[in-house]
Amino acid sequence: MSTTTLTRGALAAATTEFLGSGAKKLLIDGKWVESRTGETFETVDPATEQVIGRASAAAPEDVDQAVAAARRALESRAWSGMPPHDRTKLLLRIARVLDEHVEEMAQLETLDNGLPIAVTRNFAARLSTVFEYYAGWCTKIYGDTYPSSDQHFNYTIREPVGVCGQIIPWNGPMMMAAWKIAPAIACGNTVVLKPAEQTPLTAIRMGELLLEAGLPDGVVNILTGYGRVAGEALVNHPGVNKIAFTGSTEVGKHILASSARDLKRVTLELGGKSPNIVFDDADIDLAVAGAMRAFCTNSGQVCVAGSRLFVQRGIHDEFLEKLSAAVAQHRVGDPFDTATTMGPLVSEAQFTRVNGYVDIGRADGATVSLGGDRFTGSGYYVRPTIFSGVNNQMRIAREEIFGPVVAVIPFDDEADVLRQGNDTDFGLASGVWTRDIARAHRVARALKAGNVWINTYFMIDPIAPFGGYKQSGLGRELGRQSVEAYTESKTIWINTPG
Ligand code: ADP
Repeated sequence: MSTTTLTRGALAAATTEFLGSGAKKLLIDGKWVESRTGETFETVDPATEQVIGRASAAAPEDVDQAVAAARRALESRAWSGMPPHDRTKLLLRIARVLDEHVEEMAQLETLDNGLPIAVTRNFAARLSTVFEYYAGWCTKIYGDTYPSSDQHFNYTIREPVGVCGQIIPWNGPMMMAAWKIAPAIACGNTVVLKPAEQTPLTAIRMGELLLEAGLPDGVVNILTGYGRVAGEALVNHPGVNKIAFTGSTEVGKHILASSARDLKRVTLELGGKSPNIVFDDADIDLAVAGAMRAFCTNSGQVCVAGSRLFVQRGIHDEFLEKLSAAVAQHRVGDPFDTATTMGPLVSEAQFTRVNGYVDIGRADGATVSLGGDRFTGSGYYVRPTIFSGVNNQMRIAREEIFGPVVAVIPFDDEADVLRQGNDTDFGLASGVWTRDIARAHRVARALKAGNVWINTYFMIDPIAPFGGYKQSGLGRELGRQSVEAYTESKTIWINTPG
């Protein structure tokens, strides 16, 4: 993998060719087509505020077409009759094709959402692992047999849920696309995927690569476009059996309510306000590095960000000082520079929102220990900002900011931090830093969160389930849990009279 710094004039030939080939189209039934209305929208490089491309804005009629294509594919012998071993081979072929395009995927993602190239190269190189992991599942989707009576034989099978509408956000578009598509197709479903309007490029390119790998027409359809148009139409479509959504809690609640009309299967991966807890016996340097990554990764635009940092009183001042010194080393700047550790936020809307929260934190009486000043010049940059003296009731401790802003909150003891840590509407992730193994397990059990990281942060792997308690989501993705979420269980009884 290349480790060189790039300039926008030195992009890979494949990236330039992709960007230069005109407005991007919708993938419906294995073909790239314009939207019915011909409407397109701009996608912007958040580091330069320049338009880098245009994508088609899917209209409800396009959603109809895509859902119909997905239904035909679902029922086709080519797909429903594909032996599990062949499905495994297909997913492995997809993995290989993705591996051949790592640099190009990384560049497109960096251009579209501003993540540093060093990070997107790492993500792009790991896309294949999601397909490899689910390739293994194709041959292991078992039912059970149950003892009942000797007059009957009972067994279960797992069948695909059907046509899956998948709606993904802008903060990690290509990884989100892989998380959604791989388990769905491994289980024999078909897909209509809608990427976020801020970041359509890598999903489109992934669609091209899926076709290159030999995925049958209509199995994965990709509709770029707006949430309130294409997303709504997908959620409301009677031909869609399941919605898998990753995004804001507000939109997630709306989707759940809409899906209730025809009881679509729904999985939701939503927001967070995750507590990251540092006890006074922690390895301080390790915890400082972890706390920094927890709120700075992807400029804080991650649902699992450790945005509430609880530090035990005895080490509070020392910790804050070390954290501030470490975070001050961040290189905020051009995401195509390999030395950059923090790129811009994804959009002007995010820039305005995050700066707004910095103002709110100040107005509510928190102390700015680092950052907090507004970036001027082009690009949606926000310097990492540490608020200390925060009370868990303040808005910056309760609402998801989705930027590189952390609220440092002191605590007295285990009971105090569990009370405060769990005092939130969310429950996606949490971190615990301690050398006391008994305490680590105790606190892990007591935290009301779908993920607990002990002396680490951000460990996510397709092998393990991921998702949230409370208003952070519904259901789990990845691991075996995605196989359950993408299949229906059918119970079959056979009369076997003697
Ligand atoms: P954010 O606020 O972080 O942009 P959103 O929840 O608005 O997150 O967006 C996540 C995804 O949901 C995007 O693909 C977006 O287009 C889509 N979306 C937004 N509103 C709706 C909606 N009403 N129905 C379906 N999808 C939507």
